[in-house]
Amino acid sequence: MAHDPLIFQSRGLIVGTYKSRTMTYTAKLKVSFDTEWTPSYSSGMYDDETLPEEHYTFEIPCEDINTIQLFRFFGTVARSMGHNEIGIMKGACSLAFNDMRSEEDMKKIAYEFDLKLSEEYSKEFAQMQDEIYDLKAKLSRCQQPENPQYTDEEMDAMTYQEWNGVVPGSPEAVEKGCKCPVMDNEEMSEERKWVNADCPLHGKVK
Ligand SMILES: [Zn+2]
Repeated sequence: MAHDPLIFQSRGLIVGTYKSRTMTYTAKLKVSFDTEWTPSYSSGMYDDETLPEEHYTFEIPCEDINTIQLFRFFGTVARSMGHNEIGIMKGACSLAFNDMRSEEDMKKIAYEFDLKLSEEYSKEFAQMQDEIYDLKAKLSRCQQPENPQYTDEEMDAMTYQEWNGVVPGSPEAVEKGCKCPVMDNEEMSEERKWVNADCPLHGKVK
């Protein structure tokens, strides 16, 4: 859209007005958006897709507006300014989920919108992983009931239990204080991992 020799100017103004009369309360929220294209070359014709000037005023009564309606309004403003839907969604989400928020607050909001935070997911993942190892071990025993030795799957399940249910070097293990190699373990198969003797989770010396 924008050509180099054009200068894009935009001004935004947000005004909140609160008037209170006897026993009545009125409140209005007004946002204005002004743009102007200034061609920098002398002949300066406007691109036929560009409006030389745009002045928009958005106004809503807000006596009893809730935050959801308020953000719907700001969404409309952002859309008129040229932001796309994904960008608007991202903006709204980054307000809710960022490093400055308390985890507790973010969890509340995530729960309300039926979202799962990655740390919850990792807990669930570990539980399911645990179950998978257990079922695989049981299945292998059913298939080879006469095997006098542990089956590979039984060994894997025991290894996993020995790992306290968290794979050495995995993000959920690191979160719990694992000191095993991370990078080296990424290349290893699921059942065989490098273990650090100093690791409080995996380094038990027997
Ligand atoms: Zn570890």
